[in-house]
Amino acid sequence: MEAVNTAVADAAEGAGSDGNIVPDGDIVPDEDIVEDRESDDEPEAGGPGSPTLAEVLLAVEELWPESLAENWDEVGLVAGRPEAPVSKVMLAVDPTLETIEEAIAWGAQLLVTHHPLLLRGVNSVAATTAKGLAVHRLIESGTALLTVHTNGDSAVGGVSDVLADAFGLDNVVPLTPAAQGLPEEGIGRVGELPGLMTLGDFAARVFETLPAVAGGVRVAGDRDALIRRVAVCGGAGDSLFDAVRASQADVYVTADLRHHPASEAREAAINGRPYLIDVSHFASEWLWLPAAAEALGNVLADQGHEVEIRVAGTNSDPWDFILTPGGE
Ligand SMILES: [Zn+2]
Repeated sequence: MEAVNTAVADAAEGAGSDGNIVPDGDIVPDEDIVEDRESDDEPEAGGPGSPTLAEVLLAVEELWPESLAENWDEVGLVAGRPEAPVSKVMLAVDPTLETIEEAIAWGAQLLVTHHPLLLRGVNSVAATTAKGLAVHRLIESGTALLTVHTNGDSAVGGVSDVLADAFGLDNVVPLTPAAQGLPEEGIGRVGELPGLMTLGDFAARVFETLPAVAGGVRVAGDRDALIRRVAVCGGAGDSLFDAVRASQADVYVTADLRHHPASEAREAAINGRPYLIDVSHFASEWLWLPAAAEALGNVLADQGHEVEIRVAGTNSDPWDFILTPGGE
C-alpha cells in the first residue's frame, strides 16, 4: 500500500493550516501511481502488447466481480467496443465532463469510474444535458467508460478495505458481509487500532490521510475520549448504523452524514459511542484509486498485457470553500 500513502501524501498537499480550505482545489497526480509497464516506450493502442477492451474487462472481473454489486446498482461497461485495443486506462471517482475531458486529453481508451454515469433509466442521450454530452464526448473520442461501483466497495482491496488500511486498522472484517461472496467481502469494514488513541488524534489522522477537500472533516464526540475499535464505510454510509452499533465500534468514519441519521445515532449512542467522523464522499473513495490502479496493472501485466494506468487529477468533490465560526 506504499503507492497509496505516497499518492495521498501528495494529494493532501495544499491543505490550509486550518485544515479547511484547499487553495487550488486540485489533486496532484503522483508519478508513483502511474503504472508505466516495462519500458519508457508508450504502448501503442493496437500494438502487440495492448489488450482489447474485452480482455481488460476480464481482468476487472477478476478483481471486482459484478456479482458483488448491490441489487440497486448499475455496474459494468457503459460505452465502448469490446474489440477495441486499450493502451491507456484512467481511473476516477466521477464520470464528470471535466474528468472525461482529462481522460480524452491524455489519450485514454478506457475511463474506469467508481460512480455510474447512468444509474437511473434514461430516454435520451442527446447532448443537451450534461449526461448526454458525456456520452457524446466518450463515443466521439473513442473512449470507453466502465463503472466499478459497489463491486469495488465490497471486494477485498476495495474502497473500505483501503480506508481501513490507510487508517492503520488491524483484524479488519466487513461491517455487512456480501450476500454472494467470501466472508471477507462486503460493505464497510471494522477493525482495531494497534493501541488506544484520542478521538481528536484519530480525526487528525483521518484528515491527513484523505485528499484535501474544501469541506474538511467533521467530528461528533469528545475530542479527548479514547478509542480503539473503528468502523469505516467509503461513500455514504448512513444506512449502516445498525451494523456499526452491532460491531461495537468506538467511532464510525463515513461520508454524507445527514442531520437526522447523525442526530439519531448520537441520541442512541451508549457512553457516547459510536462517535462520528464525517468526511468528503469524493475523498473517501478517491483513496481507493491508486490501489485499484496498481491491482489492475498487476493483473494485466501477469497476463502479458502492456497498459499504462493513471489516476485522474480532477477533483470532483462538488464543494469549493467553507465558512466556519472559527475556533480550533
Ligand atoms: Zn460513492
